[in-house]
Amino acid sequence: MQFSEMNLLPEILRAVEEIGFTEPTDIQSGAIPLFLQGKDMIGRSSTGTGKTAAFGIPIVQMVAQSDGEKGQVLILSPTRELAMQTSDEVHKFSKYLQKVNIATVCGGQPMDGQIRQLRGAQIIIGTPGRIMDHMRRRTLTLNNLKTVILDEADEMLNMGFLEDIQTILTEAPEVRQTVLFSATMPSAIMSITKQFQTHPEMIAVDKGQKTVDNISQFYYSVPQVAKNDALKLLLEYHRPKRSLIFCNTKKMVDELCSLLNDSGFKSIGLHGDLKQSQRNQVMRDFKSGRNSILIATDVAARGIDVEDVEAVFNYDIPQENEYYIHRIGRTGRAGKTGASYTLAAGRAQLMKVHTLERFMGAKIEEASVPKLEDIRARRLEKFSSDIKQLVDENGGYEWVKFVEELEKDGYNPKDIATVLCAKLFGKDKKLAAVKNIRKIEIASSNPDRVWLNLDIGVTGKIDANFLLGVIVEATGLPSKAIGKIYIFSDYTNIEMTPENANLVIRKMANYNMKQRIVHFTIASKSREQICERKLKEKKYGAGQGHARQRSYNSQRGAKPGYKHYNDK
Ligand code: ADP
Ligand code: MG
Repeated sequence: MQFSEMNLLPEILRAVEEIGFTEPTDIQSGAIPLFLQGKDMIGRSSTGTGKTAAFGIPIVQMVAQSDGEKGQVLILSPTRELAMQTSDEVHKFSKYLQKVNIATVCGGQPMDGQIRQLRGAQIIIGTPGRIMDHMRRRTLTLNNLKTVILDEADEMLNMGFLEDIQTILTEAPEVRQTVLFSATMPSAIMSITKQFQTHPEMIAVDKGQKTVDNISQFYYSVPQVAKNDALKLLLEYHRPKRSLIFCNTKKMVDELCSLLNDSGFKSIGLHGDLKQSQRNQVMRDFKSGRNSILIATDVAARGIDVEDVEAVFNYDIPQENEYYIHRIGRTGRAGKTGASYTLAAGRAQLMKVHTLERFMGAKIEEASVPKLEDIRARRLEKFSSDIKQLVDENGGYEWVKFVEELEKDGYNPKDIATVLCAKLFGKDKKLAAVKNIRKIEIASSNPDRVWLNLDIGVTGKIDANFLLGVIVEATGLPSKAIGKIYIFSDYTNIEMTPENANLVIRKMANYNMKQRIVHFTIASKSREQICERKLKEKKYGAGQGHARQRSYNSQRGAKPGYKHYNDK
């Protein structure tokens, strides 16, 4: 569906066109027509898929077609930045509609101005806290409210706004349209939905495909202690115009920020401990380009839409899979391409990277951190082409005389050029203390191997010792051909080469084991899933997980235990 097929006012179509939206995104095609019918609705799509316009366009239309009563629409936003951003966007849609007025009411700003705005506005955009303030002071009433929008609902819940939202919605007129947008649908949202919406229509745009398609994703396996150097090398190699670096804690944000600044990488940090005025300053500096590197926690950076973020770095692996999509969704906005670089230290972090791949259904390529030599070569190349270009375009005739003077004094142009190059190129101070990263190979299961699934486990009273013996006997394979054996409560996974696996499946079809017929199949779970399951059980203890894993190495007489490598 096109914007032109949505029965939008010509003034709105013109504004949309001017902004540069040629086609609606999926969530917009789904939501706008329903919205205009006044339906209650849940819109779920990942970050960066244009949810703001999905409600911004229809509310402007609805207000423009109304009799202009004040306070018809309330949009709740989790943070001030998002509220401002939404407000900017809605302003753009209503550019050619004089009578549509918007009030933006967030904490950390003077009340007077807001009160004045509220008097004349049909659309009110704000954070829950400040909206409630105005309700208490009676500078805002919800009597005329026709539509409420909960934008970034999951984030509002994360930030503890549930009660505030409930208070606000309880005061709103019962007959109204309630619309909720969110990137994820945790169960808490479903309960708001039950409580406050009437037969809502669900519009879900699947997974993050749309957002991540245009983002190249890489990961680097580096030791934890080398993450700082890896980051600097990547920053220097790619030199992104703007970049966002994510850490999991405020403390890490602060540490990394001073570390990078000390090395000459101009960075600023953004996290929840900053005062509103500081946050604003940070965002202004980042948007204006005064600082090209923003280091942030997930919550602080949620939803922030800054143009031309060319790279997103995951210094820490995100704690939630969803966060990863939100993070990388900060780049590659509005059809541009972007890149994400994830630093993974150690086996557990690598596993998380693989979990992320499955979660998104997209690949995260392994890459190696650029070496100092690569960076220098890249810089030299650029330097050389810059000089050539300058010489080609040379218009600096006054300097010819100057050089001729030097020549008269007995200096030859080649010597002069050499010292000038050295001086101009300079030293890369940013990387002064950085060393090349030694790539570490994480011992993991051999990728040339497959996993067999056997439909008997701990409850069938088998153990690794027993299994090994049975398989060797039935197939004639040497015991060393059998890799890891993980026994879970009612199934078992066994690692071996594909040929041997086929042999086992053939020779042990309908095999009778412990008085029952068992079946070997190629496991449908991936190697990572199996290993991850195993790690989890290791972490929480076999007792709780109703599963036990044993591995066995007959040659080395290893004790049954959690880990063994029997690759050769
Ligand atoms: P979300 O709320 O889903 O995270 P936003 O509403 O912030 O996404 O939109 C993300 C970006 O996509 C913004 O820069 C916005 O201007 C742009 N955008 C939205 N809709 C379209 C469209 N139909 N065509 C092109 N760009 C769009
Ligand atoms: Mg949004």
